[in-house]
Amino acid sequence: MLLITCPVSQSDELVADRRIRSVVNHPTHVALSVECPACGSVHVYRTGRRWEDARRRVAEADTRSATAAATAASARAAQELTRA
Ligand SMILES: [Zn+2]
Repeated sequence: MLLITCPVSQSDELVADRRIRSVVNHPTHVALSVECPACGSVHVYRTGRRWEDARRRVAEADTRSATAAATAASARAAQELTRA
């Protein structure tokens, strides 16, 4: 059994193993093609520690660049204040 969230209906569905259409092993993750009991179409779910790590690294990089942009903006504002 497998718990999935249908991207169409946004509902959580408990799926029997026989509904798994294919399992593809990639270097970073495993892709499961699952026939959805909620909407009837096939959704792909990716699992794996390295896949999760890569996603986390991307999210952290986004946070860092947002912080750097905010720091640069406040530095510019402070410079304008000293000139005034
Ligand atoms: Zn679905």
